[in-house]
Amino acid sequence: MNNAIPFHLLERTNGADTHLVHTGRTPSVHGGLVNTPVCRGSTILSSTLEEWESRKTPENPMASYGRFGNATTRAFETAIAEMEGGYASIVFPSGLAACTHTLLALVKPGDHVLITDSAYGPTRTFARNVLQRLGIEVEFFDPLIGGGIAALMRPATRVVFVESPGSMTFEVQDIPAIAEQAKRHGALVVMDNTWASPIYFKPFEHGVDISIQAATKYIVGHSDALLGVATATREAWELLRAGAHDFGQTAGPDDLFLALRGIRSLSVRLRQHQANGIVLAEHIAAHRAVHRVLHPALPGSDGHALWRRDFLGASGLFGVVLKPMPRPQLSRFFARLELFGIGLSWGGFESLVLPVDTPQRATRAPDLPGPLLRVHAGLENASDLVRDFCGALDAAAA
Ligand SMILES: *Cc1c(COP(=O)(O)O)cnc(C)c1O
Repeated sequence: MNNAIPFHLLERTNGADTHLVHTGRTPSVHGGLVNTPVCRGSTILSSTLEEWESRKTPENPMASYGRFGNATTRAFETAIAEMEGGYASIVFPSGLAACTHTLLALVKPGDHVLITDSAYGPTRTFARNVLQRLGIEVEFFDPLIGGGIAALMRPATRVVFVESPGSMTFEVQDIPAIAEQAKRHGALVVMDNTWASPIYFKPFEHGVDISIQAATKYIVGHSDALLGVATATREAWELLRAGAHDFGQTAGPDDLFLALRGIRSLSVRLRQHQANGIVLAEHIAAHRAVHRVLHPALPGSDGHALWRRDFLGASGLFGVVLKPMPRPQLSRFFARLELFGIGLSWGGFESLVLPVDTPQRATRAPDLPGPLLRVHAGLENASDLVRDFCGALDAAAA
């Protein structure tokens, strides 16, 4: 099992362990408490007219009203901005809200937006339903396009939205090559960086302008809260901040507290998710019922070279394409699983497996001779996970 884990990659994130313990908390301003407390509140009182006036200046809206956040919000946003390597962050009530409001903050009617064909399904639906209705032209591009995206750039192209690896199909994108072309044509690069988390991909080192986390996944890490966050470079921050505030989005302090708690163990959890995911994927790939495993950390897999070049590790989420399997056999597979839950989302401590409908694609149809499964390797013992999953595949194939 040991030689399956790319330890040389893990070492590249060593600084993260220490950073995650100390970021986003200041005990001295909270009576010595180790953790930033859950601050509740809408109204923030001023004691003098002068204090009130100083608080309501446009440069300092955060200090005047609960909708702009409080100490709990700031602690989380600061921690995320540092982890992502950006200038500042802003919270949203869900990962999808972070995606949609970031896009809305940047575009106007007549603009052209390029979105990876492998984007998270609801982001894609939002682009088709809402952006198009607002007069913004949406075009989906092949996630493997790389620098070839130059041919799709137009004077009206405002945003290039990337997500790597892609949702459900796990294509690794050449983000630096795409960002170079976007920059050349005056477009902003927005990335959904949820799969890698800020620990395993550093978006701003690869040309991204705004990075989004569905914090619901690895950052919260325990399947007990929904939360989103977007982080910008100094240049893009004002656009993001103003655009988001205009919509009045907030996140509750209890969810922010859970996310801050999640951050403390994020790198430790990710090591186990990574190791379990790789071991599980290797065993699944060798099973006779399996056509292909979609996991960029497996040597020889599609996207492995790019993943190795740009990423610092792999999370526990990957795809499995089964050989053609009649419905009763697929039911038997799911019925036999004991450790894997059947359900949406991922990034929690528990393992999940989800049957996936054929993903919508505008550029190239995915190679799916049989059913597609999305697997999340949780924090259980790797051998137990392998036994459970492969045992269920045996039962299905028998
Ligand atoms: C889950 C997910 C989202 C949405 O997050 P929610 O908090 O569920 O709204 C966005 N992007 C990706 C890649 C996701 O997996």
